[in-house]
Amino acid sequence: MARIAVIGAGAGALAAAARLAVAGHRVAVYERTETYGGALRRRERDGFAFDTGPGLLPLPAVYRDLFVKTGREPLEECVELVQADPSSHHVFADGTEVSLPNASRAGVVSAVEEALGADAARRWGDFLVRAREAWDRARRPLLEEPLWPNWEVLAGREPYPAVPHRRLLRVRQAATLAEVGEWELRDPRLRALLESHALAFGLDPRTTPASAAVLPYMEHAFGTWYVRGGLRELARAMYERCLARRVEFRFGAEVTAVREKDGRAAGVELADGTAVEADLVVAGVGPGPLERMCGTRLRGEGEVPARRDGASRTTVLLALRGARPESTPHRTVVHTRDRAAELDALSGGGLPSEPTVTVLRPDDPALVPDAGHEAVTVTAVAPPGADGAEEFAERMITAAARAVPDLRDRLLWHEVRTPEDVERETGAEGGAVPAPALAAADGRFLHASNTTRLPGLFTVGGWSHPGGGLPHAGMSGALVAGLVVEGPDFRGSQ
Ligand SMILES: Cc1cc2nc3c(=O)[nH]c(=O)nc-3n(C[C@H](O)[C@H](O)[C@H](O)COP(=O)(O)OP(=O)(O)OC[C@H]3O[C@@H](n4cnc5c(N)ncnc54)[C@H](O)[C@@H]3O)c2cc1C
Repeated sequence: MARIAVIGAGAGALAAAARLAVAGHRVAVYERTETYGGALRRRERDGFAFDTGPGLLPLPAVYRDLFVKTGREPLEECVELVQADPSSHHVFADGTEVSLPNASRAGVVSAVEEALGADAARRWGDFLVRAREAWDRARRPLLEEPLWPNWEVLAGREPYPAVPHRRLLRVRQAATLAEVGEWELRDPRLRALLESHALAFGLDPRTTPASAAVLPYMEHAFGTWYVRGGLRELARAMYERCLARRVEFRFGAEVTAVREKDGRAAGVELADGTAVEADLVVAGVGPGPLERMCGTRLRGEGEVPARRDGASRTTVLLALRGARPESTPHRTVVHTRDRAAELDALSGGGLPSEPTVTVLRPDDPALVPDAGHEAVTVTAVAPPGADGAEEFAERMITAAARAVPDLRDRLLWHEVRTPEDVERETGAEGGAVPAPALAAADGRFLHASNTTRLPGLFTVGGWSHPGGGLPHAGMSGALVAGLVVEGPDFRGSQ
């Protein structure tokens, strides 16, 4: 039995802690804020409640597995999972709208046919077949296995089988997601639909590899789920599972240093001066803070460096008078009418004048004071440090009004949550939110491995392999537990 100190109580760290405790280790979590969950927070006011981090759960199998492997009660007995159906509703630049059903490729293709025509439906259906091939190739190395020591194979090989495209007497294949859209989908609405999956993670489709095709594939194949009461409930269930497995928690306990002895991680030091001895340390925090704790670079030559970049989010919480109309989609993406301007603004570190927004309208009485009110969350990508959050929030509300009739008339109050709020809650510099790892592009979209140059120090959560997003962070917990329990020969989660 080893003593294991876990830094941070984000989703990845909680997943690792529960699994390590079940494997017989003595696990203690040191969290600098007063609560668990990291980005999975809830804001409550006047009887309204809002998720301020992720509002939907993709790929719930990752968390089902966690709950099966760490106790008797399965996930469904600890939280109420509800399929979001439709999975998403889209309002395009030209005003066309489409509702995509949950976890049904055939259903998605017929919805696209009805809204955008037979040619568009055929193109989207063919694209999904190719995206599935990319998923089949990338799933194990990019989600279920520790980062390969020969990661260059992943970096150099594009798993998406792009269609050869004749251009100026040359035959080319799409290398970026934007090229997949332009050359294979053609319809501007399909292109917006495709690109929105990268943009949701703050990735610019013009530089994101074609392998990002797995993102819409995952959503169409495995569906999108809501946790009744809000996604914060998932964090609560993970925390309680950890407590049931005798994981200890210290809140208000900022880790300032990782202790080293005889060339190994040997514990942590807290801001109040306490020194904690441990045999292993698992860090669920971003690379900047972790390097400061260690005072050294943790990745060597020839290894995937820790990614530090990542766009943040601005989130506007809207308290509305009037009931949520029946059959309102849970999630609507309102696409910008000026794609190029939006991407140029974001890549230049500014806030777009007309952002693409995601509008979440959960059908959940737990989030409202009574049936005569509605709680709506609007999110847009925002670069860290950009000025003008209030004006940007106004533009986000204007965009959201394209999907919510009478929005301004119904508005009781709103609150704006900025990248600074995200930084306060997660500790990530600039409030950056990590994206999932992607293959190809010379490895620029991979995340650093879960092992480090300091023996006994492991990394978990969105800033290490396999990257950000709830399913990926949950998988990082499974991978770290596997590496600790089975050692470096661990070949991945089954
Ligand atoms: C606004 C927002 C929207 C998002 N939307 C989506 C989405 O739609 N879909 C999706 O899949 N994902 C989304 N994500 C990302 C997702 O929430 C995260 O990738 C996921 O929760 C994994 O988090 P993590 O394990 O990396 O830990 P984090 O949530 O980053 O938490 C890190 C924890 O470590 C603690 N910590 C930091 N430094 C220290 C220290 N020195 N000592 C002790 N503790 C420390 C922090 O206080 C925090 O509790 C969103 C995130 C945000 C912020």
